[in-house]
Amino acid sequence: MAPYVGRFAPSPSGPLHAGSLTTALASWLDAQCHQGHWLVRVENIDAQRCDPRWVEVILGQLASIGLHPQAPPAWQSQRSALYESALEQLKSTHQIYACDCSRKLIRSTVAQSPDDLSLRDDNEMLYPGICRQRGLQGGPQTAWRLRVGLATEPVVINWADRRLGAQKQDLTQTLGDFVLRRRDGAWAYQLAVVIDDADQGVTHVVRGEDLASNTARQIYLQRCLNLAPVHYLHTPLVFDEHAQKLSKHRGAPAAIVNTPELARQALQDCAHTLDLHLPSELWLRPTLNEILMAAIQAWQVRWAMA
Ligand code: GLU
Repeated sequence: MAPYVGRFAPSPSGPLHAGSLTTALASWLDAQCHQGHWLVRVENIDAQRCDPRWVEVILGQLASIGLHPQAPPAWQSQRSALYESALEQLKSTHQIYACDCSRKLIRSTVAQSPDDLSLRDDNEMLYPGICRQRGLQGGPQTAWRLRVGLATEPVVINWADRRLGAQKQDLTQTLGDFVLRRRDGAWAYQLAVVIDDADQGVTHVVRGEDLASNTARQIYLQRCLNLAPVHYLHTPLVFDEHAQKLSKHRGAPAAIVNTPELARQALQDCAHTLDLHLPSELWLRPTLNEILMAAIQAWQVRWAMA
């Protein structure tokens, strides 16, 4: 079997909630089914939102449900040199350019109306190419943008998700040139994740469906840097009683797994979200290990071959 490397990449901006615990379990199960390596990566490039103290908590939650990474976690905050060299590579081939546009300027350029709904999320806004001709001349407050397409040809990315099926995004029409390094000097998630996955030899990405809309950008960036393609599986999300996706941002409660009973219950809930059918007799008094073994078998049937 070809080497398999999978990863769980939490941002330490809070403890894991039921949704992120489910993603962690999914990525672990997929690695087990492929006799692969399973890594944890601390995604703390956003220094303002992340607190290293959460890393202990997150690793503790993972350990409580029996998930142990096969290597000490990598921290994005220690990997700037890698991101820097990727940016240099893209500069040398003129695939990126300097951009000083403020959000306000971009918004006012693309807005159709004052409350244009398509402008709700800055990261999903079509960049109108204001600085496209500018080249590599940066200043102290310069962002770096990746050119999406070098000429007038549209860039359409087709990719296959192991759960969601065939996906397609026209990057030129929907997002345009996107940011790899922000004006405040922070690395963009798109760059860090692509470089880290490549550097760590990740072959399979298993993560929440809320991140699926980033995948086309990441595939495009991999191609620009001549990096190996990766397999993707985006997992179902967990919703609260108001049908809102659980997120730290909205204060989703931490997954409490610090007793064997609670850990078993949490695993049962994660398995349910992942549409894994575990034998019902398991739930009388199974050990954590028995639940995990049953979940591996169920994952094998449901998702491993996808
Ligand atoms: N750090 C991201 C998050 O916590 C996950 C990124 C990824 O899996 O690609 O949502």
